Amino acid sequence: MAVQRTLSIIKPDAVAKNVVGDIIRRFEENGLSVIAVRLQQLSAAEAGRFYAVHAERPFYGDLCSFMSSGPALAMVLEGQNAIALNRQLMGATNPKEAEAGTIRADHADSIDANAVHGSDSAENAANEIAFFFADLELNSRIA
Ligand code: ATP
Ligand code: MG
Repeated sequence: MAVQRTLSIIKPDAVAKNVVGDIIRRFEENGLSVIAVRLQQLSAAEAGRFYAVHAERPFYGDLCSFMSSGPALAMVLEGQNAIALNRQLMGATNPKEAEAGTIRADHADSIDANAVHGSDSAENAANEIAFFFADLELNSRIA
């Protein structure tokens, strides 16, 4: 298994609930290291660019409003198999379907306000990391 980097966002609902620390603890306890981080409120247009792949979906407008409704914490996680591992720790998109013990099962209220985002492929991870961070802001933790 290779060391990978992935983009994680703690969404505005989870930031508002003050569970940033609990979510990052789960990443760290499972072997993922934070190598870049920024708390930032996106504009609706910026959220729209980030989620452009969903532009034709019926929920796109609601998704952009929600993602710009308050500050969100964007970070880059690094570790073995980071992309799939992050998705596993997040749980299913709809918290009603998320496995017990996952971040979404514990902290998400609905399919809209679902606490976290995680890149879903190596290609998307590279694009999403570049959306938020410059190369010089990535502080690799691998010796
Ligand atoms: P994310 O990209 O935020 O990590 P995901 O990869 O699990 O979530 P996607 O299919 O990429 O799920 O959808 C992006 C976001 O759009 C979801 O997190 C969710 O908030 C919203 N969404 C997805 N499907 C629906 C749906 N059927 N109804 C309402 N909102 C949805
Ligand atoms: Mg997605």
